[in-house]
Amino acid sequence: MSELHDEIVLQLADPPNCARCGGPGRVSARFSHSWKNASGEEVPGIREATLCPVCDRDEPTADGLLAFFTVHKTLEPSELETFHNLAAAWVAVARARQVDQQQLDDEYERSHNGKL
Ligand SMILES: [Zn+2]
Repeated sequence: MSELHDEIVLQLADPPNCARCGGPGRVSARFSHSWKNASGEEVPGIREATLCPVCDRDEPTADGLLAFFTVHKTLEPSELETFHNLAAAWVAVARARQVDQQQLDDEYERSHNGKL
């Protein structure tokens, strides 16, 4: 389980609704996500991102993955590698975005507590 750090679980069937607009998601990904708390300790956690055809439009990796679903109604074994590459690119972006959000939340928390 040494690769746990980079484990990504994709959910293609009945993904949750988009957390941003409430619309139906296209696919969701769960990935491990660790961040440092105020004392600099690593805090492990699991995050989930949902690919939304509305909110994620114009983001190149999301567009790529959405286009894949438009062209391929079902996931054929011969398309798995393409799908994997597109999904990995999108997850990398989604993951970075959530880290930013975490940092924002963290800064908000600190400013709120008068520590910034
Ligand atoms: Zn949305």
